[in-house]
Amino acid sequence: MRIVVAGGAGFLGSHYCDRLIAEGHTVVCLDNLATGSEENLEGLRREPRFAFEERDVCEPFTIAGGLDAVANFASPASPVDFKRLSLEILRVGSQGTWNCLELARDKQARFLITCTSEAYGDPLVHPQSEAYWGNVNPVGPRSCYDESKRFAEALTMAFHRRHGVATRIARIFNTYGPRMRLDDGRVVPALVAQALRGEPLTVFGDGSQTRSFCYVDDEIDGLRRLLDCDDPYPVNIGNPRETPIIEFARIVGGLAGQPERIAFQPLPADDPKRRCPDITRARQLLGWEPRVPLEEGLRRTLDYFRERVRAAAGRGGGAPAPR
Ligand code: UDP
Repeated sequence: MRIVVAGGAGFLGSHYCDRLIAEGHTVVCLDNLATGSEENLEGLRREPRFAFEERDVCEPFTIAGGLDAVANFASPASPVDFKRLSLEILRVGSQGTWNCLELARDKQARFLITCTSEAYGDPLVHPQSEAYWGNVNPVGPRSCYDESKRFAEALTMAFHRRHGVATRIARIFNTYGPRMRLDDGRVVPALVAQALRGEPLTVFGDGSQTRSFCYVDDEIDGLRRLLDCDDPYPVNIGNPRETPIIEFARIVGGLAGQPERIAFQPLPADDPKRRCPDITRARQLLGWEPRVPLEEGLRRTLDYFRERVRAAAGRGGGAPAPR
């Protein structure tokens, strides 16, 4: 296949490019490098089936030649970005997604959109199945991301219904692993970096809020299977092991060999209290479920960040951005 990966220089997009190239496909990777990095594509630089174009998908564009699929990963996705890049997030979820859908329609290609568990907001139903419509604050600090992604889902369904585009919608739950940004403020890079520096681990609120963490290799495998599936309705791709954040902090501290030191900080507004995917649909449609245990995934993530934390310390920086 020849596949466009929008947002292909980001955390998930770059792993998706790796996977497609490893399978023998040809990839055209688009990214405006707002939060992505060419460093993530280092391993693909000499690959003749891989091309990178620095491009903002919010501007009209086309790609010469035939295409089999368009996979859209383009969006800033961390709560620190929700403050800093709110308008860019709203624009890429709407106009950017629209342009990618037009490309898929024009080329009669399949379209995959990577959406989010944030579609469920602060959920009142637990665990969250795709049948749940969510509990989203439309004007809160997270709304730029939640509503942008919900709009992207609506737009995708409209292209499917009006124009017959073969669309797939993934809802991704807290995925972690190598190539996350050290300073993106999310709990995995923040706590891993703190543990490696021997600093106290910042836990927001009392740490009783839960998340369900999926290792990146599992996530990419689910997203790859989804591209080949025929079902246009959303599919949760996440790990159903639910962990309170305080317990998560203890696991990270323990793996880093750190004595337990927690610094409690105020809980940010609208922070979801519980989050856990019901993955019945993914199991049935894709024959998929996650395999990498949290401790193993975190070990690999610690290995990745160890060198980066050292390099950042050498430059005299790299502390997580404030929320
Ligand atoms: N969190 C925390 N300490 C941090 C960063 C985040 O306790 O340094 C909490 C945050 O309040 C949330 C959870 O960890 O309850 C996951 O936060 P993250 O920003 O990673 O993702 P999201 O809230 O979007 O799931």
